[in-house]
Amino acid sequence: MSKSSYFFQIAIDGPVAAGKGTASRLLAEKINFLYVDTGAMYRAAALLAIENHVDFSQEDKIVDLIAKSDLEMRNPEGNKEMDGRLTTLILNGKDVSWAIRTTQCSDGASKVATLAKVRQILVEKQKKIAETTNVVMEGRDITFKVLPEADLKIFLTADLTIRAQRRHLQYLTKGVDKTLEEVIAEVQERDERDMNRQIDPLHATADSWILDSSQLNIEEVVALIADKVEVMIKEKAKHS
Ligand code: C5P
Repeated sequence: MSKSSYFFQIAIDGPVAAGKGTASRLLAEKINFLYVDTGAMYRAAALLAIENHVDFSQEDKIVDLIAKSDLEMRNPEGNKEMDGRLTTLILNGKDVSWAIRTTQCSDGASKVATLAKVRQILVEKQKKIAETTNVVMEGRDITFKVLPEADLKIFLTADLTIRAQRRHLQYLTKGVDKTLEEVIAEVQERDERDMNRQIDPLHATADSWILDSSQLNIEEVVALIADKVEVMIKEKAKHS
């Protein structure tokens, strides 16, 4: 066991559309942990920039907007929020759970995520959440920056074409009209930005379990992780 924290931490990183969100959500439900979608926080930062007409490169202004904002993330509650979302995000009192999912916010999120001070303020918020409860936290730097001592670290990935096909299907069900080729290019562009940025670029740590979901459906991915977690929680209880 890597650390002696009272809370159990599952850290999941991986490229765009690897299934991190859905797998983490289902896993968290199954084992009764809090699911933390850190990408939603970078998306919220992008939305703040858009709404305040601030360019995605304006580091200090974006940090200032985040610092002044009230950002609440929680599991969806009540019938109204059971609309397919994975997480509910309330930004300054407004439910922006869907507003942050636009292509403009996806693109903006990966741009503001290259800014050191933006990362710093969001990483601090994420660390604080994990101090309060058992978490399944997913993103692009969780295994090595946010929760470097997590009990379980996973790098969830899949072939580019398969990830793009999955994202394309999600777009189709939402009525977004894009070709598969466009989605491949979009996914690739965001991956490259995430893997090549100067601050904390996305990578698989040596101690991460590399889980390739190319040939697995989401239920299989969740079952694999849940089985492992069950064994680990029993072990942790024995030693605490
Ligand atoms: O996971 P999602 O696609 O919603 O994340 C949006 C963007 O936020 C990613 O493309 C990435 O650039 C950024 N991100 C990050 N670090 C995280 C989570 C997300 O840089 N921990």
